[in-house]
Amino acid sequence: MKQGLFIVVSAPSGAGKTSICQKMLEVCPKIKFSVSHTSRKPRPKEINGRDYHFISREVFKKDIKEGYFVEWVENYGELYGTSYKEMENNIKRGKDLLLDVEPRGAKKIKRKLKGGVFVFVLPPSYKELERRLRKRGHESGAAIKTRLAQAQCELKEISWYDYVIFNKDLGKAVEQLRSIYIAEKCRRRFLNEEINNFMKNQLSKDGGY
Ligand code: 5GP
Repeated sequence: MKQGLFIVVSAPSGAGKTSICQKMLEVCPKIKFSVSHTSRKPRPKEINGRDYHFISREVFKKDIKEGYFVEWVENYGELYGTSYKEMENNIKRGKDLLLDVEPRGAKKIKRKLKGGVFVFVLPPSYKELERRLRKRGHESGAAIKTRLAQAQCELKEISWYDYVIFNKDLGKAVEQLRSIYIAEKCRRRFLNEEINNFMKNQLSKDGGY
């Protein structure tokens, strides 16, 4: 069975990663979203099993001990993790996966699993990132400061990512991510079966002359 491709998308908060990922799933229905586990509470409109598997901190910690996660991190006081089950079940069945994971987790995935594509989303400028975070309006000045400090740390990780998307315009950013996906699926390693069939047909035709 042909293995699926996985694309890991990271970005500092405020860069627009969630919108890009949501649109990407709409325009590429063959890609499935990798549903992470988290100990944080669901936000309005979030659905258990679709946006996250919402579990208690106790269950999360038990799962960590049992080796359930490819990677997990503590982020803003909550636990987030990607399960082996989510990744392997899909990839081994030939499904392509889109992961929304921050850089520490993404790095662990890169170390542990081969064949992924790593994409970092940036806002047009640091000033714009600050403006977007303040525009959200639901966070205190201190929380915004913490997010900006975390953004500074995350930006240092950009060096090992495969692709970078500047999210100035949502439509263009989604088009770039879709182009990355299309190009990656044209890699020879994904097309061995098709190439072999092509060669076989070619050989049997040659044999006929
Ligand atoms: P939020 O709480 O806003 O949904 O997500 C907060 C951060 O956690 C985002 O940067 C998101 O990329 C990250 N995140 C979501 N799922 C995972 C995961 O499974 N592993 C890691 N390492 N980060 C995750």
